[in-house]
Formats: sequence, structure tokens, C-alpha cells
Amino acid sequence: MKPHPKRQVEMLEKLPEAHCPPTVQPSLFSPTILVVDDEQGMRNSLNDLLRMSGYDVTCAANGREAITLLANKRFNLVLLDINMPFISGQGVLDYIGEKKIDTSVIVLSGESTFDQATQALRKGAEDFLTKPFSPDDLLRNLTKILQKRQRRDEYLVIQKRLQGSEELHRFIVNSAPDLIYMLDEGGYFSFVNERVESLLGCQVDDILGRHFLELVFEEDRRKAEYAFQLQRKGQVGDKGIELRLRGKKGDDLRHVEVRALSIELNPVGVYTAGKRGNQGVVCTYGIARDIGDRKQTEALQRYQHYHDFLTSLPNRNLFDDRLDIALGQAKRSGGKLAVMTLDVDRFKKINESFGHLAGDEMLQSVALRLRKCLREGDTLARIGGDEFALLLPNVSSKQDADSIAQKILAISSLPVYHQNTELRITFSIGVALYPDHGEAKDVLLRHADLAMYRVKESGRNDFRYYSKDLRQNVSHTLDIENSLHRAICDNELRLHYQPQFDMATNKVTGLEALIRWQHPQRGLLPPSEFIPVAEETKLICYIGEWVLKQACKDAVVLRNRGLGHVRIAINVSPQQFDMEDFEETLLRTIKQHGLDTRFLEVEITENSIMRDMNKTMEILTALSAAGITIAVDDFGSGYSSLGYLHTLPLHTLKLDRSFVQNIAHAGEKNTIIDAILAMAKGLKIDFIAEGVETQEQHDYLLAAGCSICQGYFYSRPLEFNKLIPFLVSGK
Ligand code: C2E
Ligand code: CA
Ligand code: CA
Repeated sequence: MKPHPKRQVEMLEKLPEAHCPPTVQPSLFSPTILVVDDEQGMRNSLNDLLRMSGYDVTCAANGREAITLLANKRFNLVLLDINMPFISGQGVLDYIGEKKIDTSVIVLSGESTFDQATQALRKGAEDFLTKPFSPDDLLRNLTKILQKRQRRDEYLVIQKRLQGSEELHRFIVNSAPDLIYMLDEGGYFSFVNERVESLLGCQVDDILGRHFLELVFEEDRRKAEYAFQLQRKGQVGDKGIELRLRGKKGDDLRHVEVRALSIELNPVGVYTAGKRGNQGVVCTYGIARDIGDRKQTEALQRYQHYHDFLTSLPNRNLFDDRLDIALGQAKRSGGKLAVMTLDVDRFKKINESFGHLAGDEMLQSVALRLRKCLREGDTLARIGGDEFALLLPNVSSKQDADSIAQKILAISSLPVYHQNTELRITFSIGVALYPDHGEAKDVLLRHADLAMYRVKESGRNDFRYYSKDLRQNVSHTLDIENSLHRAICDNELRLHYQPQFDMATNKVTGLEALIRWQHPQRGLLPPSEFIPVAEETKLICYIGEWVLKQACKDAVVLRNRGLGHVRIAINVSPQQFDMEDFEETLLRTIKQHGLDTRFLEVEITENSIMRDMNKTMEILTALSAAGITIAVDDFGSGYSSLGYLHTLPLHTLKLDRSFVQNIAHAGEKNTIIDAILAMAKGLKIDFIAEGVETQEQHDYLLAAGCSICQGYFYSRPLEFNKLIPFLVSGK
């Protein structure tokens, strides 16, 4: 039975003035309450009471109205009368449950049957008040429920934020390009990110719980174990360690660089890096970076450093190393070894008649043939354009070397074909034996060379051993050597200058200094007559110094005549470049003449560059920093890799003359020139085409985008006194 509504209404209206019910942070949050009661007086009283307490109240006169309101608005709390006609309070509760409406319900009932109450509470009501109830009771219970709701809502917000933040972190960790892991105290994986799937082909679950050493390649395990122990002691270096990890298949190794640090997991489950309070568990947190690409590049660079690009044979660097080792062994064991230098006969002719490309192909097939004559342990290297060197570390007698040399001569006499032309490629071979013909590396190579020159002089296609009297026989060389000494003292050397033209403006931008020898008897000699001899001795360094001084003097004259914008390029021999004080002398001389460094360019060949990359880098960096520009001379004629173009401070590429000679017609494409030009452009390096002799060559180069040209087509090298009028007239 319902209590008399009047009584309940009176009770509610008896609310004392000073009564100040505990509210739920009304300033932040004004809870919405739905009052559902079919007694109008009751509704009004509740409405007044709750509004006075700061709530936002809506009333419904029956179950249907309540359902409509619940469907359209959010209420924090519902005060629900149970006994109503048509749709009862239980019906409203059913609707709330069915629709999963997020609200709290306090059931108000005139009947305090246990059944009614349990049924309502089971359906989700949070409290049950039996009419009549005091306003205090109502407000207290209501506030308690609303506060609980508020706490729950706040908790849910935090929970959601945490979840979002955890998802973000998980995403960051899993999409990291590196493998991120955590090891427990014993070195077992307690965490690993998903990168492990692409790196090692394993699932995260396959890894968790496994010991880290199981993933490390056997040969690297000691290193890994040692590093792990160090990390645990807190001794972490700045550098990571490089390890090889095994992929799932077992035979696929991955190079990684691991950086790790020990962290302490304290008793409340928080990790602290670096700190050791001695209460927690020491774990390891680490990152392993895939350095496969870097390893591959390093391997390639190492290969390029030791191999010839064209034939894939060892180059001079590797040959030198192997010869050093072989000499050391021979010295210890008292054994012998042989060094041979092999030069392709008349290779220049092949190059000239068939072109550079055909020459390259020829060298490749020659290399293949030579390889067939070798035994295991022998080293065949390409040490120059058409020059090969052979090291035979295991020769017990002269006969051994004889038979190899004969084999080479026999095999090379078989014809090779180039575009239906039959060619015979023969060799001149010089041999020097250790210890009979010398004990040091340089001596052996020089003596083998001398013997080889002798073969060339006496008709080629043969081999010869070094002997003492050979030295006297190369009298021509000695002659030049002696008289060159005199030439330097007697001022017989001259510098001629060949202008370099800007193709767009037709103006001279630079000059190449080219040496001549005004021989008292033989007249003006070109460098080919004496530079090779000078390069065999230290003389080239004196000549180089002379050239530098003369070029500086001439540059001063040019500057004083208002022609200071024209830069002078000087040629530097490999021996000169190798000198200890090369850069120092260069910079000092320029300074002594009061010149600016930008008036000078240094031309060096690829061979000089490749001899000792570290040293080259050091010298060129110093020169470049001082303002001197550097040109690679005869570019493309060497056999080296192109890797150095990226790393060294270079300013100009001088395309070798042979490429320009191959230009037949302006319309015909020359892919090599185009490719080199494109590369120079890409690297932002200037480009000079050398040896331009014809209009066709000029036209082709102009169309191809070449910027600077040098050659007889524009001007031959000029004496200095003819140069000034030439420059003045062309200014
Ligand atoms: P390089 O450095 O390649 O010099 C270019 C050579 O090509 C010069 O020969 C030049 O006269 C020649 N030349 C220029 N235009 C044409 C052309 O249109 N057609 C043809 N066929 N040749 C052309 P040059 O003066 O006989 O010098 C020969 C080599 O001697 C130089 O080759 C350089 O390696 C060396 N050389 C010259 N002067 C010096 C020097 O002062 N010091 C050193 N170490 N070497 C020098
Ligand atoms: Ca040059
Ligand atoms: Ca050149």
C-alpha cells in the first residue's frame, strides 16, 4: 500500500532553511536528475528540494514519459517511483538495463516488500528508499551515489588516457627501426618489440623467455657475453658493439650494432636507468640497430680499395700488401720468390685504332687468360693502364719462373677477335727474383720494370730477368737523367700555357702550365721525352718545384696586367704528391709570391689519388681549405672506382683526351661522355674536355652541356710572351 502522498510531501517541504546538503562539486558539475512519479505533489516537492540543492531536475509523470526522456537525454540519476500505472518503475528499470543506459537509479516505493526491493536492486537500482523518507536521507544517499559516479567517471577518463598513452608508446616502440629489448637479470628476454619479426624472422613470443646468447652467432658469443657483464656492472661505453645475430633459418646472419644499459627494476615495478639502489633487480635495456647496409658498403669499399674496377683483379694496393707478406715469409724461411711486371705490347695502338672501349674489353680478356697460367697462391694484379704485375711466392728455382713466363707468352700468342679483326696481344715481361735481384719491395719492382723495358727495346713479346748490366744498357735513360740535372741548373726548362675556354662565352677562364725542355742540341723537347725518366727518380720533385715557382711568377705578371681572373693549373706527378712536405711547399711558394691561392689549380691523376686514400684525403682537404682548387687529370683513363668523387674535395674533372677523340660526329651519341657529364653535374664538379681538335668535337661537347674546353681547336700551348697578347686580344 502506498503511504498517503500528502504525508510524504509534507515531510519533504519541512526542509529547514539552514539545511545545506552536501553537494557534488556543483561548480564543476551540475548533475542531472530525473524524477519519475505519478503523484504530482510528490514530483513538485522533489523538484523543489533538488533544485534548491543545486541539481538540474527534470520530471516525468509516468513510465512512458520517463522512457522517452531517458532515450533523448543523459541523466546522472533517476529517482524512480515503483508503483505507477501502465509502465511501472520495474518497467523503466528494464528499459534502462536493455538499452544499457548509463545512469544511477534510486527506487522510491510506498511498499517496502523485500521482493520489490531485491527485484529493483537486481535490475540495477543502486538504492531503495521507502516512502515516507526524510529529505536528509534522500539527499545523503543521492549525494553518495553521485559522488561515487563522479569518481568512477574520473577513473574512466584516466584509464582511457593511460590506455591511449600506452597504445602510443607501444606503437612507437614497435614501429621503431631498431630492435628494442629488455633482458632480465639472467640475460633472458623479458621484452622485445615487433621489429624482431622483420629483422630475424621470429615472432615476439618465440623470443620471450629465451637467453640472448641463443640469438648471437657462435663466433660473437664471447664478445656479447663480455659486453653483457660489463653493462650489468654499469660500465657502458659510448660506442655500441657490433654483433652478428642469427635469423630464424639459422644461416642468415644479421649485422647489428647494440647499445645497452643496465636499469634497475625497483620493488614497485618502476625502472630506473643507471641508478643502483641495491634493492631492485638489475635488468638490461638495449637497442640493436641493423647495420647490414653499412657492412655491405664497407665490404664494397674494401673490395674497391684492393681491386681493379675493370678486370676485378687485385690492384696495386693488394699487390703491395701480398708482396710484403710474401717477402716476410721468404725472409724467415730462406725461400725465394719472383716478381714479374707485364706490359701489353703496343696497347696504345689498340686503344687508338679501336677506341677506349675496345681497349678495355681487350684488357678484360687478357686478364682472364693470364689467370689461367697461375697456380694457387700466385697474385696477378693490374697496376696501371696496360701494366700487370705477378707475384709468385713459391718459386724454388729459376725454372719455375721460366715456365710461368713461357706459359704466359704461349697463351697470349693465341689470337683474340675484335669485330672480326684478328688481334694478337703479346707481352713484354720483366722478372726479378728475391733475394738474387733485390731484397726490398721497391727494388724488386723497379728491377723487374728495368728488365721489362729492355724486352721492349729489343723487340717485345719476350721475357727477361734483371741483371746488373741492364742498368748500363738503359743508357738513354741515364743520359736524360744526367742532363736533366744540368737542365734545371742551367735554366733550360720552359713553361708553355694552354688556354681553357668557357664554351658559352668563348672567354679564357684558365691556363694549363705544360713543361718543355729547351735542349741545347735537340731543341724544344715535349714532356714525354723526359718526364717519365724524371718520374723514375727524385728529379721529378725538383722539376715540380721549378714549375710551381715559374707558374707563380707568371701569375704575378698576369695579375699585374689585369688578367688576374685567369687561373693557372699545374700538373703534379704522383711522386711529388707523395712527398712529405708537398702541401706545405705549395702554400709557402704561393705566399712568397704574394699571390692569392685561388689563382692556382692543381691537376692530379686518378692513380695519385688512389695510392693512399687517407693521405690523399688529408692533403686535398688542407689544399681545398686553403682555397686551392683540385682537378682530376685524364679522368676516365684510370681504372679506379668512382667512390672517391663523393668523398674528396674535388673541383674539376678533366675528361681524358681519348674520349674526345672518339667523338666522330656531332649527332652521334657518346654515352660515356654523356654519363660522365651528368655525373659531374650531379656532383657539382666543373668539367673540362681536353684535346678538342675538331669542329665536330666542339659541337658535340657544346650540345652535351660541357662548360669548359681545351685543345688545339682553340689554341695550342703558347709561350708566355705570346700568351699575354693572346689573352689581351681575347679579353
Ligand atoms: P696532360 O696533363 O694530359 O696535358 C695535356 C696534353 O695534351 C699536353 O701535352 C697538351 O699539349 C696536349 N694537348 C692539348 N690539346 C691537345 C689536342 O687538341 N690534341 C692533342 N693530341 N693533344 C693536345 P704535353 O704538353 O705534351 O704534355 C704531356 C703530358 O706531360 C701532360 O699530359 C702531363 O701529364 C705531363 N706534363 C706536362 N707538363 C708537366 C709538368 O709541369 N709536370 C708534370 N709532372 N707533368 C707534366
Ligand atoms: Ca694535365
Ligand atoms: Ca690530361
